[in-house]
Amino acid sequence: MKITNCAVKAAGCAIALTICTSMNAQKEYPKPTPMTPEMSEYWTPQPRVVTPGDMATQSAPSDAVILFNGKDLSAWESVNGSDAKWNVENGAFVVTRGTGDIQTKEKFESFQLHMEWSAPEEIKGESQGRGNSGVFLQGMYEIQILDCYDNETYVNGQTGSVYKQTPPLVNAMRKPGEWNTYDIIYTAPVFKEDGTYLYPPRVTVIQNGIVLQNNTTILGTTEYIGFPKVIPHGAGPIKLQDHGDAVKFRNIWLRKL
Ligand code: MG
Repeated sequence: MKITNCAVKAAGCAIALTICTSMNAQKEYPKPTPMTPEMSEYWTPQPRVVTPGDMATQSAPSDAVILFNGKDLSAWESVNGSDAKWNVENGAFVVTRGTGDIQTKEKFESFQLHMEWSAPEEIKGESQGRGNSGVFLQGMYEIQILDCYDNETYVNGQTGSVYKQTPPLVNAMRKPGEWNTYDIIYTAPVFKEDGTYLYPPRVTVIQNGIVLQNNTTILGTTEYIGFPKVIPHGAGPIKLQDHGDAVKFRNIWLRKL
Protein backbone atom coordinates (compact mmCIF):
# COMPACT_ATOMS: atom_id res chain seq x y z
CA MET A 1 0.00 0.00 0.00
CA LYS A 2 2.77 2.38 0.88
CA ILE A 3 4.51 1.86 -2.46
CA THR A 4 1.27 2.55 -4.29
CA ASN A 5 0.71 5.81 -2.37
CA CYS A 6 4.20 7.03 -3.21
CA ALA A 7 3.70 6.24 -6.86
CA VAL A 8 0.48 8.27 -6.89
CA LYS A 9 2.16 11.18 -5.16
CA ALA A 10 5.13 11.11 -7.60
CA ALA A 11 2.77 11.17 -10.56
CA GLY A 12 0.94 14.13 -9.01
CA CYS A 13 4.18 16.06 -8.54
CA ALA A 14 5.23 15.39 -12.11
CA ILE A 15 1.95 16.82 -13.40
CA ALA A 16 2.25 19.88 -11.11
CA LEU A 17 5.83 20.50 -12.31
CA THR A 18 4.75 20.28 -15.92
CA ILE A 19 1.95 22.84 -15.36
CA CYS A 20 4.28 25.14 -13.39
CA THR A 21 7.04 25.00 -16.07
CA SER A 22 4.63 25.81 -18.82
CA MET A 23 3.27 28.80 -16.80
CA ASN A 24 6.83 30.13 -16.25
CA ALA A 25 7.62 29.85 -19.94
CA GLN A 26 4.74 32.17 -20.68
CA LYS A 27 5.61 34.86 -18.09
CA GLU A 28 7.68 37.84 -19.25
CA TYR A 29 10.22 39.45 -16.88
CA PRO A 30 12.11 42.72 -17.48
CA LYS A 31 15.43 42.21 -19.26
CA PRO A 32 18.61 44.26 -18.61
CA THR A 33 19.25 46.98 -21.14
CA PRO A 34 21.89 45.71 -23.58
CA MET A 35 25.35 47.14 -22.72
CA THR A 36 27.07 49.55 -25.04
CA PRO A 37 30.78 50.52 -24.82
CA GLU A 38 29.89 54.01 -23.49
CA MET A 39 28.11 52.58 -20.44
CA SER A 40 31.42 51.53 -18.81
CA GLU A 41 33.41 54.68 -19.72
CA TYR A 42 33.68 57.85 -17.66
CA TRP A 43 35.40 61.09 -18.58
CA THR A 44 35.78 63.19 -15.44
CA PRO A 45 37.79 64.09 -13.53
CA GLN A 46 40.60 64.08 -16.07
CA PRO A 47 44.06 63.23 -14.63
CA ARG A 48 46.17 66.30 -13.87
CA VAL A 49 48.79 66.98 -16.54
CA VAL A 50 52.40 66.48 -15.38
CA THR A 51 55.17 67.33 -17.81
CA PRO A 52 57.86 64.62 -17.64
CA GLY A 53 61.48 65.50 -17.01
CA ASP A 54 63.95 65.61 -19.86
CA MET A 55 65.55 62.20 -20.48
CA ALA A 56 68.90 63.66 -21.55
CA THR A 57 69.38 65.97 -18.59
CA GLN A 58 67.52 63.80 -16.05
CA SER A 59 65.47 66.81 -14.98
CA ALA A 60 62.51 66.44 -12.61
CA PRO A 61 58.82 66.19 -13.55
CA SER A 62 56.90 69.48 -13.46
CA ASP A 63 55.12 68.77 -10.16
CA ALA A 64 58.17 67.54 -8.22
CA VAL A 65 59.53 69.07 -5.01
CA ILE A 66 63.22 69.68 -5.78
CA LEU A 67 65.22 68.48 -2.79
CA PHE A 68 68.65 69.11 -4.30
CA ASN A 69 69.30 71.31 -7.29
CA GLY A 70 73.06 70.72 -7.51
CA LYS A 71 73.88 74.03 -5.84
CA ASP A 72 73.09 74.13 -2.12
CA LEU A 73 71.56 72.28 0.81
CA SER A 74 68.85 74.87 1.45
CA ALA A 75 66.17 72.13 1.54
CA TRP A 76 68.11 70.24 4.25
CA GLU A 77 69.10 70.60 7.88
CA SER A 78 71.10 68.63 10.39
CA VAL A 79 68.93 66.31 12.51
CA ASN A 80 69.78 68.53 15.51
CA GLY A 81 68.13 71.47 13.71
CA SER A 82 71.33 73.33 12.74
CA ASP A 83 72.44 73.88 9.13
CA ALA A 84 73.33 70.76 7.14
CA LYS A 85 77.12 70.50 7.15
CA TRP A 86 77.72 68.09 4.28
CA ASN A 87 79.84 69.42 1.39
CA VAL A 88 78.44 70.45 -1.98
CA GLU A 89 80.85 69.89 -4.85
CA ASN A 90 80.49 69.51 -8.63
CA GLY A 91 76.68 69.39 -8.60
CA ALA A 92 76.56 66.76 -5.86
CA PHE A 93 76.81 66.66 -2.08
CA VAL A 94 78.88 64.29 -0.03
CA VAL A 95 78.60 62.90 3.49
CA THR A 96 81.01 64.76 5.75
CA ARG A 97 82.11 62.19 8.30
CA GLY A 98 81.09 62.92 11.88
CA THR A 99 78.73 65.81 11.12
CA GLY A 100 75.65 63.64 11.62
CA ASP A 101 72.60 62.69 9.61
CA ILE A 102 70.76 65.32 7.58
CA GLN A 103 67.06 65.54 6.77
CA THR A 104 64.71 67.57 4.62
CA LYS A 105 63.11 70.58 6.28
CA GLU A 106 59.81 69.63 4.69
CA LYS A 107 57.90 66.61 5.96
CA PHE A 108 56.02 64.19 3.74
CA GLU A 109 53.37 61.48 3.80
CA SER A 110 53.26 59.10 0.81
CA PHE A 111 55.59 59.89 -2.08
CA GLN A 112 57.62 58.95 -5.13
CA LEU A 113 61.29 59.76 -4.53
CA HIS A 114 64.09 59.91 -7.09
CA MET A 115 67.71 60.17 -6.02
CA GLU A 116 71.13 59.31 -7.34
CA TRP A 117 74.03 58.15 -5.20
CA SER A 118 77.57 56.99 -5.64
CA ALA A 119 79.81 54.95 -3.34
CA PRO A 120 83.40 56.19 -2.92
CA GLU A 121 85.60 55.23 -5.87
CA GLU A 122 88.43 54.33 -3.53
CA ILE A 123 87.48 50.97 -2.01
CA LYS A 124 87.97 50.84 1.74
CA GLY A 125 86.59 48.37 4.25
CA GLU A 126 84.26 45.44 3.74
CA SER A 127 80.73 44.30 4.51
CA GLN A 128 78.84 47.15 6.25
CA GLY A 129 82.07 49.19 6.42
CA ARG A 130 82.17 50.03 2.69
CA GLY A 131 80.25 52.96 1.25
CA ASN A 132 77.51 52.86 3.88
CA SER A 133 74.73 55.44 4.11
CA GLY A 134 70.96 55.09 3.99
CA VAL A 135 67.74 56.87 3.16
CA PHE A 136 65.14 56.96 5.94
CA LEU A 137 61.53 57.22 4.78
CA GLN A 138 59.52 59.60 6.98
CA GLY A 139 62.68 59.71 9.10
CA MET A 140 61.79 56.24 10.44
CA TYR A 141 62.48 53.40 8.00
CA GLU A 142 65.91 52.89 6.42
CA ILE A 143 66.40 51.70 2.87
CA GLN A 144 70.05 50.70 2.92
CA ILE A 145 72.65 52.45 0.81
CA LEU A 146 75.87 50.42 0.68
CA ASP A 147 78.64 49.59 -1.75
CA CYS A 148 77.58 46.00 -2.43
CA TYR A 149 79.59 45.73 -5.65
CA ASP A 150 81.68 42.60 -5.04
CA ASN A 151 81.17 43.09 -1.30
CA GLU A 152 79.16 40.53 0.65
CA THR A 153 77.32 41.34 3.85
CA TYR A 154 74.27 40.02 5.72
CA VAL A 155 71.54 39.97 3.08
CA ASN A 156 68.97 41.94 5.05
CA GLY A 157 71.53 44.71 5.34
CA GLN A 158 72.43 44.76 1.65
CA THR A 159 71.83 47.65 -0.76
CA GLY A 160 68.11 48.18 -1.17
CA SER A 161 67.18 46.14 1.88
CA VAL A 162 64.57 47.38 4.28
CA TYR A 163 67.35 47.40 6.84
CA LYS A 164 67.43 44.27 9.04
CA GLN A 165 64.02 43.26 7.68
CA THR A 166 63.73 42.40 4.00
CA PRO A 167 66.64 41.69 1.61
CA PRO A 168 66.53 43.10 -1.92
CA LEU A 169 65.32 40.75 -4.67
CA VAL A 170 68.65 41.13 -6.51
CA ASN A 171 72.00 42.94 -6.41
CA ALA A 172 71.82 45.72 -9.04
CA MET A 173 74.97 47.65 -8.04
CA ARG A 174 77.10 49.72 -10.33
CA LYS A 175 80.84 49.95 -9.63
CA PRO A 176 82.18 52.23 -6.88
CA GLY A 177 82.40 55.79 -8.19
CA GLU A 178 79.57 55.26 -10.72
CA TRP A 179 76.12 56.76 -10.17
CA ASN A 180 73.21 54.59 -9.04
CA THR A 181 69.59 55.69 -9.24
CA TYR A 182 66.99 54.95 -6.59
CA ASP A 183 63.31 55.34 -7.39
CA ILE A 184 61.29 54.71 -4.26
CA ILE A 185 57.50 54.59 -4.05
CA TYR A 186 56.39 54.79 -0.44
CA THR A 187 52.93 54.49 1.13
CA ALA A 188 52.74 55.99 4.61
CA PRO A 189 51.16 53.93 7.38
CA VAL A 190 47.80 54.53 9.03
CA PHE A 191 47.63 53.96 12.80
CA LYS A 192 44.85 52.68 15.05
CA GLU A 193 44.02 54.59 18.21
CA ASP A 194 46.08 52.10 20.24
CA GLY A 195 49.20 53.07 18.26
CA THR A 196 49.52 49.87 16.21
CA TYR A 197 49.35 49.81 12.42
CA LEU A 198 45.91 49.76 10.81
CA TYR A 199 47.79 49.75 7.49
CA PRO A 200 51.58 49.27 7.76
CA PRO A 201 53.93 51.30 5.56
CA ARG A 202 54.77 49.78 2.17
CA VAL A 203 57.64 50.40 -0.19
CA THR A 204 58.77 49.68 -3.73
CA VAL A 205 62.47 50.27 -4.45
CA ILE A 206 63.94 50.35 -7.96
CA GLN A 207 67.72 50.67 -8.36
CA ASN A 208 69.10 51.44 -11.81
CA GLY A 209 65.74 50.43 -13.31
CA ILE A 210 65.71 47.06 -11.48
CA VAL A 211 63.10 46.17 -8.83
CA LEU A 212 64.65 45.44 -5.41
CA GLN A 213 61.52 45.75 -3.24
CA ASN A 214 58.09 45.08 -4.73
CA ASN A 215 55.40 46.68 -2.54
CA THR A 216 57.12 45.29 0.55
CA THR A 217 55.42 45.64 3.94
CA ILE A 218 57.61 47.53 6.41
CA LEU A 219 57.28 45.90 9.84
CA GLY A 220 58.38 48.89 11.94
CA THR A 221 61.53 50.85 12.68
CA THR A 222 64.78 49.56 11.19
CA GLU A 223 66.87 48.93 14.29
CA TYR A 224 70.59 48.09 14.27
CA ILE A 225 70.05 46.07 17.45
CA GLY A 226 66.70 44.49 18.18
CA PHE A 227 63.47 43.91 16.35
CA PRO A 228 61.27 46.47 14.57
CA LYS A 229 59.28 48.78 16.80
CA VAL A 230 55.89 50.22 15.87
CA ILE A 231 55.91 53.88 16.87
CA PRO A 232 53.00 56.14 15.87
CA HIS A 233 54.04 59.09 13.73
CA GLY A 234 52.75 61.61 11.25
CA ALA A 235 54.41 63.23 8.25
CA GLY A 236 58.19 62.90 8.34
CA PRO A 237 61.33 64.02 6.50
CA ILE A 238 63.63 62.23 4.08
CA LYS A 239 66.71 61.54 6.20
CA LEU A 240 70.17 60.59 4.94
CA GLN A 241 72.65 58.72 7.09
CA ASP A 242 76.17 59.77 8.04
CA HIS A 243 77.76 56.35 8.49
CA GLY A 244 81.26 57.82 8.16
CA ASP A 245 81.70 57.01 4.45
CA ALA A 246 81.96 59.66 1.72
CA VAL A 247 78.84 58.63 -0.22
CA LYS A 248 77.75 61.23 -2.80
CA PHE A 249 74.20 62.28 -3.71
CA ARG A 250 72.71 64.29 -6.56
CA ASN A 251 69.48 64.98 -8.45
CA ILE A 252 66.99 64.40 -5.63
CA TRP A 253 63.32 65.12 -6.18
CA LEU A 254 60.02 63.94 -4.74
CA ARG A 255 56.41 63.82 -5.91
CA LYS A 256 53.73 63.77 -3.23
CA LEU A 257 51.21 60.97 -3.72
MG1 MG B 1 73.09 52.44 6.37
